[in-house]
Amino acid sequence: MALSGFASCKGVVWVNTHLIKPLVGESYPVVDYGRGIYLFGKDGKKYIDGSSGAVTANIGHGVKEIYEAMCRQAEKVSFVYRSHFTSEPAEELAEKLAQSAPGDLNAVFFVNSGSEATETALKVAIQYFQEQGQPEKIQILSRRTSYHGITLGSLSMSGHPLRRQRFEPLLEDFPAVAPPYCYQCPFKLSYPSCKMKCADDLEEAILSIGSENIAAFIAEPVIGASGGAITPPDEYYPRVKAICEKYNILFIADEVMTGMGRTGKMFAMDHWDVVPDIIATGKGMSAGYTPMAAAIVSDRIMKVIENGTKVIMSGHTFSANPFSAAVCLAVMDYMDKNNVVQNAQKQGIYLIEKLKKLQEEFEVIGDVRGKGLLCGIELVRDRTAREPFSLNEKITETFISICFENGLIVYPAVAGVTGFSGDAVIIAPPLTITSEEIDELAGILSSSLKQLTGKLEQEGKL
Ligand code: PMP
Repeated sequence: MALSGFASCKGVVWVNTHLIKPLVGESYPVVDYGRGIYLFGKDGKKYIDGSSGAVTANIGHGVKEIYEAMCRQAEKVSFVYRSHFTSEPAEELAEKLAQSAPGDLNAVFFVNSGSEATETALKVAIQYFQEQGQPEKIQILSRRTSYHGITLGSLSMSGHPLRRQRFEPLLEDFPAVAPPYCYQCPFKLSYPSCKMKCADDLEEAILSIGSENIAAFIAEPVIGASGGAITPPDEYYPRVKAICEKYNILFIADEVMTGMGRTGKMFAMDHWDVVPDIIATGKGMSAGYTPMAAAIVSDRIMKVIENGTKVIMSGHTFSANPFSAAVCLAVMDYMDKNNVVQNAQKQGIYLIEKLKKLQEEFEVIGDVRGKGLLCGIELVRDRTAREPFSLNEKITETFISICFENGLIVYPAVAGVTGFSGDAVIIAPPLTITSEEIDELAGILSSSLKQLTGKLEQEGKL
């Protein structure tokens, strides 16, 4: 046996995918190619990519314009080191992102993954206060149900016990507050009579820790991997931003999943007219055609850094490489020309309608939620009591396996997260999906829910 990169002729060569358990089944099917919302296995099986992979393949698979842009840039130059050169694609992409981002978010720092983007945001926030003589402002507040990435800094900010547990001793002990999770409210209250106690919880945490110790609050606009498209009431983010401003704490919007049109606006914060201090973005930025992500930083922060150290104290070898920048530019160009964000908004409404119809039919669907084409369903044992299944029943796993068998890929919102005891799946197809394709997706969901319900009844679990 050999690890990937250490291939030998003596045994099995392990590639990355063999080193983690497949989401579904015992072994991985081998992918052959993708076209639009569809993926095709080597065995000829056709799948609807109902979650755009990990909510990434925003413009669908096999888009010719992207391949052509790749070839054009590869012919010129693929890599230069960011301390030696800048490049036209990197400059143009930064310009375009700054124009798309709200308010004074104009400085774009390129990285290669969402985890690096949130970790960069963390570092920028800390550096911002250091430059102003406040080195003790180093705590980052997050929410108990959250996912901000897999590296040690980003994982320290994540309320995701499954991914944290082995590395707990190495993680920073950052404080976390209640998520705005109305369906299973952490305070057992209901909206609007709750008066947004979850937002108050942020203020209470700040007061108890002391704002002089806190650099930033980080939040996913719509909670993805750890919650299944949990979408707060409209007044939540304006309140949160006002609280952060009141206590001189930066607000980081982790738009790695929600950004680049996923929720029907370029950035999800645009729904609430909230301008964060830093946006972390990734996934849809390259739509999966190359690894690329970014931290977009406000002029206010950059002014302080420019008057101090002058540069953001971070960076990676591949940051801002011209090849990836050209690919992202081609993706953004494609999105503009094909009104992809508008389509996400329109088809998101249609998808939610379809999911609500399924909810009427299937008691096992407790909640339908989401924004644009980032939707989620939460599965419960008893809808009236909102009683979740227990974790060891592995309902999410069973359901995504049934869907996969039936040719539909959906994304698990991992149960077992603090404050989130339920089972949920994310349905987030490419933003280019048509109504007819949504009908097809909903048809497979319906037959998969029927199968799940039948199985659970048979096993006496319903
Ligand atoms: N933040 C959010 C909101 C995410 O959904 C993810 C990925 N699921 C990340 C950060 C980490 O991104 P990556 O996997 O590209 O490191």
